[in-house]
Amino acid sequence: EPYLVIDNIKKEFPRRTEAPLRVIDGLDVGVEKGALLSILGPSGCGKSTLLNIINGLDDVTSGRIVINGHEVSVKSRSKLKIGVVFQDSRLLPWRTVKDNVRLPLDELGIDRAEADRRVTYYLNLVGLGDFGDYFPLRLSGGMQQRVSLARGLAIEPDLLLADEPFSALDEITARKLRQEFISIWRATGRTVIFVTHNIREAVFLSTRMLVITPRPARTHLDLDIDVPYP
Ligand code: ADP
Ligand code: ADP
Repeated sequence: EPYLVIDNIKKEFPRRTEAPLRVIDGLDVGVEKGALLSILGPSGCGKSTLLNIINGLDDVTSGRIVINGHEVSVKSRSKLKIGVVFQDSRLLPWRTVKDNVRLPLDELGIDRAEADRRVTYYLNLVGLGDFGDYFPLRLSGGMQQRVSLARGLAIEPDLLLADEPFSALDEITARKLRQEFISIWRATGRTVIFVTHNIREAVFLSTRMLVITPRPARTHLDLDIDVPYP
């Protein structure tokens, strides 16, 4: 069985007077460990809904999702470690960069020495080894997004979810960070799912590309990409 299995999931939202809104209608995907999977689709097709479900924040209406042998649900959320990177960095402005990366480690009960090691390692990995004592608002948008990436990776997640992680950045910064993202992903060996509406970005970054149709979401195109970079 693949590392991540999305098995014929359907998702409906109840409505007061009309029939339920079907947002996902039978999505089937198997993802290998270590993949960099992009999910592309028009706005409103259900990408955020899918990420929420994978993240254990919402349940499917039917079907199942299994990650590393654990079935995902709101109830079983704590069994899996899912790292999340958003469009905006969502750092706590009153905490230093180091403390932002450390916070989820403390929440997981990771001991001090190991947390110290990871904070240093992951900040170095994203190129911010010298900025640990800064407060986020002193950093550029691209740097803040790097911190957010370090925070997502430092928990050493079963899966890293990234929701349009480059789309709030200016094009020059986005380009630079995309390129580094590949080396960062390679260095960690993590399985990553990222959502984008930028097809060029998806082609540039993915080992696997999933294009979903407008609502209700179904797999429209599932491409394995022969990664062009070394
Ligand atoms: P995308 O991320 O691809 O833009 P979303 O997953 O945000 O799409 O939304 C897909 C559809 O589901 C939209 O029509 C949206 O209005 C609807 N939707 C999303 N969340 C809810 C919710 N909690 N309750 C009802 N409808 C929702
Ligand atoms: P093209 O060069 O094919 O005209 P763009 O300049 O629009 O394409 O870039 C395509 C997408 O892939 C953009 O989102 C861009 O950021 C990314 N991209 C292309 N080349 C690189 C590169 N060398 N490094 C980082 N990102 C790149």
